[in-house]
Amino acid sequence: MKRKKIRHKQSLHVNIYYSRGFTLLEIMIILLIIGLLAAIAIPNLMKARDQAVVTTCINNQRIIYDAAVLYELEANTTLEGMSDSDAMQTLYDAGYLRSRGYFECPFSNVEDMNDYHLIYVAGNLIDIECTVAGDDHKWP
Ligand SMILES: [Zn+2]
Repeated sequence: MKRKKIRHKQSLHVNIYYSRGFTLLEIMIILLIIGLLAAIAIPNLMKARDQAVVTTCINNQRIIYDAAVLYELEANTTLEGMSDSDAMQTLYDAGYLRSRGYFECPFSNVEDMNDYHLIYVAGNLIDIECTVAGDDHKWP
């Protein structure tokens, strides 16, 4: 009977020891580690997001440029002299681009079909540019 009581006390002591939670120092070390990891990860995540925006914009430029070249060849006409939004609307209406999403740079938050500008030299379509971010979204 006496022996059983001692055992009970010991196990109670062990339970109290393991359920006491964390000390302030342990919590502060954990917060410090989380803070360091966030400081390392967040700039990299931002950079990856910006790179995705640039890639989408350049992809849009390539698609619009190809569509414009094809349209001008097949319709035997030019988009030169039109406003940017009229030129994009013409490509859309003629069925060369089926989604209006191509006409919007992901960097822009206005859906106006004015994000891309076709560049002509001596009557020939030679390039396209993003009017939202310019050289930051330059098609190489
Ligand atoms: Zn852009």
